[in-house]
Amino acid sequence: MAPVEMRAPTEPVLSTLNEDGTRRWLEPRMTFGRFRARRKAVAYGLIAIFCGIPFVKIGGLPAILLDIPGRKFTFFGSTFLATDTLLLMLLALSIVLGVFFLTALFGRVWCGWGCPQTVYMEFVFRPLGRWIEGGGKNVERGSVRPSAGRRTLKFSAYLAVCGFLAHVFLGYFVGIEQLTGWMSGSPKDHWSSFMLVAFVTAAMMFDFAYFREQTCLVACPYGRLQSVLLDRSSLIVGYDTGRGEPRGKGKRTAVLALGDCVDCNKCVATCPTGIDIRDGLQMECIHCTQCIDACDTVMDKMGKPRGLIRYSSKDELAGKGRHFLRPRTLIYPTLLLVVFTLFITALVTRSSTDLMVFRARGAPYEKLADGRTMNRLRVQIVNRDTVSHTYQISIAPIEGLSLRGPTTTEPLDPGESTELALSLTFPKQAVDGSGEREIEIEVESDVGETVTGGFTLLAPRRSERTP
Ligand code: SF4
Ligand code: SF4
Repeated sequence: MAPVEMRAPTEPVLSTLNEDGTRRWLEPRMTFGRFRARRKAVAYGLIAIFCGIPFVKIGGLPAILLDIPGRKFTFFGSTFLATDTLLLMLLALSIVLGVFFLTALFGRVWCGWGCPQTVYMEFVFRPLGRWIEGGGKNVERGSVRPSAGRRTLKFSAYLAVCGFLAHVFLGYFVGIEQLTGWMSGSPKDHWSSFMLVAFVTAAMMFDFAYFREQTCLVACPYGRLQSVLLDRSSLIVGYDTGRGEPRGKGKRTAVLALGDCVDCNKCVATCPTGIDIRDGLQMECIHCTQCIDACDTVMDKMGKPRGLIRYSSKDELAGKGRHFLRPRTLIYPTLLLVVFTLFITALVTRSSTDLMVFRARGAPYEKLADGRTMNRLRVQIVNRDTVSHTYQISIAPIEGLSLRGPTTTEPLDPGESTELALSLTFPKQAVDGSGEREIEIEVESDVGETVTGGFTLLAPRRSERTP
């Protein structure tokens, strides 16, 4: 077989890839401006919320607690259990539709303003690194390499921040009391949680110290979906080709009819994903607005109006109007309204007790020596309330039907469940000729709330019975 000829790509494949396939390390130049100031305020607000939520209690419960071993998820006063399949599905669907709708309207505003990757990278790790290494244009260009001491200090600082964030992150899964208890004890008393924090710290170090913008470029699935989620009227960060081209550094004269772009490359130098916005809308663009601030500074110096790079839409940049009402801005919110209404309805009407009745494994019925029939069943009760309860199990009165086994539960804490093994015995007259009868199992809590579950009594059919 003839050897396969390997050809070099004719254009850049990825902004972080050199022609020889090695990583192109980016050190975006710091830019100040109105958007950076606003993003900074939003970023620090989000960081404060992330670090503060584990300390917030609502109705005695943590504001957010993701108890994975207990399969119990608490969100702002509501506890969801793994058995809340419908509720969790409606909630997940609402989130997906909400993301679709917001993206259709505001493009990648989440990526640029709210995503933890951007928030921590641009407003914690990069500023911290610049501060320790000295920053400056030469460091950003890579022509000056910071000393080994500064680099060690930088990575030590990164490690400390990652360790702190990993502890806060764990607080969402175990609660702040448990976390502070573990932190004040020895790691050998809780190896698994210690290893978990170590793993999350290492994962964050890998991301923020090494992988960095690659997360947005090659790992984030949301970025890959942009081509289908955006349309020509969605908000984007765009370069006004009509105003900027032909670009050039020379002095603008009547003979040299250049556009407003002076080809200073400042928009490229500040881009955290290393792209040139003047090449058009690109999947790598996280709409962080740093190029807007960089270009506005240049325009200010030139006495030209700001906005050569600005928030816009593809249609606006092409000289057409921007339409708010489009099929996707009508369909997504309509679906979102329907799904979210269903979610809220299901949430407020759900009982604070969950009951499931199962037939026990083995034979569907047993014949007893006294001629009666026995069915075995399992009753599972889940306390969804925010306080403890005990429960009493009973059956509708049917002549000869009796319930055996533990019919009162121990106190169940919020979110706790129990399963009871019970049996029902009944005479043959209790069922009809088909050998079946539907009955109801009733569970009453100590505050009088009742829930019922159906169960089918099974016995031999009349044709199978012995006289
Ligand atoms: S910053 Fe503005 S003027 Fe400078 S290269 Fe970019 S678009 Fe052109
Ligand atoms: S092109 Fe501009 S908006 Fe897009 S990622 Fe780069 S700096 Fe941010």
